[in-house]
Amino acid sequence: TLSVNKLKEMILYVADQIIESKPLLTELDSAIGDGDHGIGMEKGFLKVKEKISAMNPSENVYDVFTATGRALLMSMGGASGVMFGHFFAAGAKNAEPKTFLNPEDFIALMQKSLNTIKETGKANIGDKTMVDALEPAVQAMKMQGGTSFIDLFRSAESAAKEGAEKTKAYQAKYGRAIFLMERAIGHQDPGATSVWIIFRSLREFVE
Ligand code: ADP
Ligand code: MG
Ligand code: MG
Repeated sequence: TLSVNKLKEMILYVADQIIESKPLLTELDSAIGDGDHGIGMEKGFLKVKEKISAMNPSENVYDVFTATGRALLMSMGGASGVMFGHFFAAGAKNAEPKTFLNPEDFIALMQKSLNTIKETGKANIGDKTMVDALEPAVQAMKMQGGTSFIDLFRSAESAAKEGAEKTKAYQAKYGRAIFLMERAIGHQDPGATSVWIIFRSLREFVE
């Protein structure tokens, strides 16, 4: 299980990895979008670091996820700010407070976040969005079950990576890449890539 303090450390680690990936995310969004995904994610996760470091003491693990999602929502702006805000915060909403998070809790949290992201953004698998990485990751975690965080994050990472790579074959149905039509083919979706980086970082943190 993960304590509130361990979770904070984990989120700070994820934040550093996303910030480090700014050049890659910028490159991907420059190919099929407006080039600002790396900038937005960096801005968002710098705010996350600030908020998590300064967070009031809490006995509830879900407060860490809520604070992370809110920081992204408030600082990133735009559709992706809403989506990455939901990634962390939606699944924590109305969750029964807990002092320790176990793998089953994390699977339930991610399933709820995915549902909210799909309800809000209307994207499905194959639409060349972050859903292409997140949905397979959630499915892989459900298959894996709540044995250990290492196994859980390993399966999530590999499914998210594969899902992100598959977006190269898709045309976009959302965002600016729609206008590229088939010219978007061959390029990996930036948001899906961020989802992969998040799960990769979670796996690295617990390994
Ligand atoms: P913007 O498109 O406003 O410039 P970003 O560049 O930060 O925002 O993020 C783009 C990413 O947002 C895309 O790569 C995609 O993964 C994700 N995205 C865009 N629209 C949607 C949507 N409707 N549902 C889910 N994700 C989306
Ligand atoms: Mg963009
Ligand atoms: Mg933009």
